[in-house]
Amino acid sequence: MKKGFVALIGAGPGDKGLLTVKAAEMLAKAEVVVYDRLVSDDILKLIPPNAQKINVGKENKHHPVKQEEINEILLQKALEGYFVIRLKGGDPFVFGRGGEELELLIENNVQYEVVPGITSAIAAPCYAGIPATHRDYCSSFHIITGHAKAGGELAIPFRALAELKGTLVFLMGISSLQYIMDGLMEAGFNKNTPAAIVENGTRQNQRKLIATVGTLEQQAKDKQIKSPAVIVVGEVCKLSNSFDWFMNKPLFGKKVLVTRPKAALGTIAQKLYEQGAETIEYPCIEVISIQNNESFYNACKHLNEYGWILFTSKNGVDIFFDYLKSKRLDARAIANVKIAAVGRQTEKALEERGIFCDFTPEIFDGEHLAKGIAKLLKKNEKVLICDGLKASDDIVNVFNENNIEFDRVHLYDTLYTSENNEMVKELIYKGELKYVTFTSASTVEGFVKSMGDIDTHSLTAICIGNQTAKAAKRYNINYVVSDEATIESMIDKLVEVSKG
Ligand code: SAH
Repeated sequence: MKKGFVALIGAGPGDKGLLTVKAAEMLAKAEVVVYDRLVSDDILKLIPPNAQKINVGKENKHHPVKQEEINEILLQKALEGYFVIRLKGGDPFVFGRGGEELELLIENNVQYEVVPGITSAIAAPCYAGIPATHRDYCSSFHIITGHAKAGGELAIPFRALAELKGTLVFLMGISSLQYIMDGLMEAGFNKNTPAAIVENGTRQNQRKLIATVGTLEQQAKDKQIKSPAVIVVGEVCKLSNSFDWFMNKPLFGKKVLVTRPKAALGTIAQKLYEQGAETIEYPCIEVISIQNNESFYNACKHLNEYGWILFTSKNGVDIFFDYLKSKRLDARAIANVKIAAVGRQTEKALEERGIFCDFTPEIFDGEHLAKGIAKLLKKNEKVLICDGLKASDDIVNVFNENNIEFDRVHLYDTLYTSENNEMVKELIYKGELKYVTFTSASTVEGFVKSMGDIDTHSLTAICIGNQTAKAAKRYNINYVVSDEATIESMIDKLVEVSKG
């Protein structure tokens, strides 16, 4: 029988970039993942799809899964022979009951490892511009729990803390905030000592509150601060505004809907993340290649007889060349053919296949492509158009007007999907979502179809080019167009509009 194994892993405070390399490598191999309430959604997305996920952080009428029960689950799954990951927020040994979870495993001779994580006690202040220490202000920092063990009493040695003069970081302290602040003042802390709270530290919904020991409790009430949050006390809190690198990111606090097919979501979502935005991935279209595509397969038997082949998207390029490869046809199959494409992505996809385009129009649309080709075409040259089933007839119309001989093969179809559309509708309705990105006319179509008759006037769409913008205009969506047809340029445009 396969021997089970448990890795007790710290998932960090929320930002997916703060997961350690070792944790990510182990997570990728997980067969069972047992996780907590504090593990962020961004990290949960990294769990392999086939792994069994067990949420032990779910509070059922305020009764979380009991510690003994969690220990039992870990043991059970390990004994069944699985590679088990116990994923915990922050660091597993910093108020994480990591030790308790290991005891039963050790008793039963289960192999285990512990992977430290970045603790919220340091990372949350850091993301709020508060360094744990600074030579000018303190020479130590202390992490203290603000939560008593069940049945016990919270006993914080306030006098000792006052003597240490270090930075104090309280975890699990929001419900005893008043007790903590009063205790500090009674022990001799000046009521004007700087103090701060960082809620949802390192996440896109992070909030921070900078006050003093005397005013923190009232201000936290006013702002309805909730757990998870860390409380920081000490002179270093004064530095927050000068070092506030995270919340000053250009798109911090902005929710952006990204509407690409699943496989293509990654790049744009990553770039938005780097700028601090909260991305909502909404793959409202799906591209599928057409099966039993006889007209395409026939064309592939005599490709060298065409003068030109035209591609209108990266999807077309990929399907075309993947098919050639499956038939053991190589570059020589199109050795004498000139190649034209619309759009930078299409051009790039061709370059990846070792082909530099002979022609791309200045304006990225079918009509300009066709008109350009019409001028370049030699006598008796025939054209092969490779596009999608829902593509417009712009190219065909120009060719017909100019008596150009052509074959047209559709390589893929675009399907519209509307998974999670209720969640998106609600965000629009509440006014929480202001921006949506469109990287093709079909994403506009997919989005509009999935939204039904909801009013989308509060949204601004960032469109990758004129064709996409035209589609947005057709549906009365407010839009701006990126200066160049690239993801980078779209993000620049979004930053520009979001500044207002
Ligand atoms: N092992 C965790 C701490 C677990 S105790 C760690 O090392 O971070 C739970 C407490 O951690 C919460 O009550 C809160 O005080 C703090 N916490 C965890 N994640 C946080 C976050 N993203 N932002 C602010 N505080 C957080």
